[in-house]
Amino acid sequence: MTRSTFLNDLRIAECRTAATALLRKYYIETPEAIDVETIAWLRGKLSVKTGGVSGAEGRLVATPEHGGVIRVAPTSNQGRRRFTIAHEIGHFVLHQRSAIDRTTLRKDFTVWTTATEEAEANYFAAELLMPEYMIRKRCVGIPSIQLLDSLAAEFRTSLLATAFQYWDYSKEPVALILSEGHDMQSFRPFKGGWPRIRFGEIHEHSAAGERLAGKAADSGKMVPTPAYAWLEGYDRSDKDIMEDSVYLEYYDRTITLLWVDKPL
Ligand SMILES: [Zn+2]
Repeated sequence: MTRSTFLNDLRIAECRTAATALLRKYYIETPEAIDVETIAWLRGKLSVKTGGVSGAEGRLVATPEHGGVIRVAPTSNQGRRRFTIAHEIGHFVLHQRSAIDRTTLRKDFTVWTTATEEAEANYFAAELLMPEYMIRKRCVGIPSIQLLDSLAAEFRTSLLATAFQYWDYSKEPVALILSEGHDMQSFRPFKGGWPRIRFGEIHEHSAAGERLAGKAADSGKMVPTPAYAWLEGYDRSDKDIMEDSVYLEYYDRTITLLWVDKPL
């Protein structure tokens, strides 16, 4: 992948600023007050309807002048429903230049690092549902998937989106990897670029690798993992870092949170 195909930090910031501007405009100060259906209506005369997406997760049919409809797949999962609506508001705000009819597939929600409109809509949606001014102060304590789960529950959104927000707003040295089978797909590096992630295949000695091999279940918490399994330059080291990996059946992806809990 060439450098230019990554979504750059400036564009990510623009997408987030557009989301925050909406929340500020409507004086939204708490997670409970983030009502995406009301925001959709106020911002673009977009009404939300369930169904009519034929296999997709969401669909936006609208014009800039007259508004339109956001359709969402029927689901009992409130977090996913809210994220889908927020994602479609993102397309309306960021990408609508004329009449639009676009669908969003499940795999689009796993796109976070390539320079695509899907990744942009995901960043917009994540910030709309978990804005920095609410979530930063909650990103404290020992990093873990369990912490991400509790944040996702409080903000009523998806674990995947929460993980990307957490990576940005936590002060802990954490990295995030999204993998499909053994292929590492998206990642957010350790801040400052060090230590460097060994991008490519999931290593068999990592917790994620042991799960893929059927030797272990989800780690369930932060567990020690060999540094060489995840990092460049540690091939002859016996040092450990910490890892928490969970398989998300809905997306058929494994999400891994890495944490350097002591100096390497
Ligand atoms: Zn989309």
